[in-house]
Amino acid sequence: MTEKILIIEDEVSLQETLAYNFRKQGYEVETAGDGLQGLEAARRIHPDLIILDIMLPGMDGYEVCRTLRQEMKTPVIMLTARDDEIDRVVGLEVGADDYMSKPFSMRELTAQVKAILRRVRMERETSQTSTFQGLTFGDLVIDLNRHEVSLRGVPVTLKPKEFELLTFLAQNRGTALSRETVLQRVWGWDYIGDSRTVDVHVRWLREKIEADPTNPTRIVTVRGAGYRFEG
Ligand code: CA
Repeated sequence: MTEKILIIEDEVSLQETLAYNFRKQGYEVETAGDGLQGLEAARRIHPDLIILDIMLPGMDGYEVCRTLRQEMKTPVIMLTARDDEIDRVVGLEVGADDYMSKPFSMRELTAQVKAILRRVRMERETSQTSTFQGLTFGDLVIDLNRHEVSLRGVPVTLKPKEFELLTFLAQNRGTALSRETVLQRVWGWDYIGDSRTVDVHVRWLREKIEADPTNPTRIVTVRGAGYRFEG
């Protein structure tokens, strides 16, 4: 699939040169002449990489980058007007991946773009083949990516809230958690219900993951405090 590059640059001649260069390299190119247009284009086309000028009319490149970072992880190369240390530092602080000081050679920028895209591709491949992300407690395995739980290799069917509750307890293993804390964290602050909701779900979980639900060894009751997951 062709990789998409978004160029946000108000200087028309530079924008055109960049677009021409990257199209010639085989990339799909979209251009924007100011920050707002750039943001709009980024949201619409989901580019693989963004080249972003700092000095833009209206919303500057820093602001654009900060906003982008709240919404997407797309790599950003910032174009700084001069070889200025401050520019670079601020650029990296707002989440840019790299920067180029004007004037720069097209060859240098192209090399940087290729290097970043190669890195992104590799990261994507690793995360796809990547292995398990989760929590293992003896024969109990909680797979956080797939939202699956297994016991002695056999899948355990959990309702979404049971899964969230188990994950929350397991991530805080060894700590006694009050019913109120569990309610707030698993069901949310605005949940209208009482702490018996927690008790009921704990009972259901125990029936599914404890060898002897009446004598739990994983989710134990802490008298006067709440529940504790034994890791
Ligand atoms: Ca500019």
